[in-house]
Amino acid sequence: MLSKKVEDALNAQVNAELWSAYLYLSMAHNFEADGKPGIANWFKVQFQEEQAHAEIFMNYINARGGRVWLKAIDAVDTEWATPLDAFNATLTHEQKVTSLINDLYALAEAERDYATREMLNWFISEQVEEEESAQELIDKFTLIGNDGMGIYMLDQELAARTYNVPSPLATAE
Ligand code: MG
Repeated sequence: MLSKKVEDALNAQVNAELWSAYLYLSMAHNFEADGKPGIANWFKVQFQEEQAHAEIFMNYINARGGRVWLKAIDAVDTEWATPLDAFNATLTHEQKVTSLINDLYALAEAERDYATREMLNWFISEQVEEEESAQELIDKFTLIGNDGMGIYMLDQELAARTYNVPSPLATAE
C-alpha cells in the first residue's frame, strides 16, 4: 500500500516523464523539418524511452494498489536553432529529472517505503546514462561547430540509434 504522499509524488513523476516524451518528440520533428533525419531519429528513440519511463511508474503504482491520475501535459518549445542548442536543452532537462528522482528517493526514505526506494534505483542509474549521453553529444557538436560535413556525418551516426525496451518493462508480466 502506498502512502498518499508517495502516490501523489509517483503520479507527478508520471506527468514529468510524459512531459519529457513530449519535449523529445517536439525536438524530433524540429530536426525532421530541418533536414537532419538522424538527429530526428535519436530524439524519436528518446521519446519512446520517456514513454517507457512513464509506463514503469504507472505499472508500479498499480502493483502497489494505487491509482494513476493522468493530468494535462504542459506545452513544450517547438524550435531549436541548432543541434547543439537541443542537446544543451536536453542535458539541462535531464539534470532536472535527476533532481526529481532524488527527491522521490528522499521521500520514499522519509516514508519508510523501501519498495519504492528499491524501484527508484533503476532510475538513478538511468539518469547517469541520460546525462552522460547528452554531454557526449554536446561535446561532439561543439567540436564540429559549423562544419557541414561533420554535421552530416554525425547525423548519419545518430540515424543508427534503435529503441530497446528498458529492463523493468522487458521483465514485467
Ligand atoms: Mg525519463
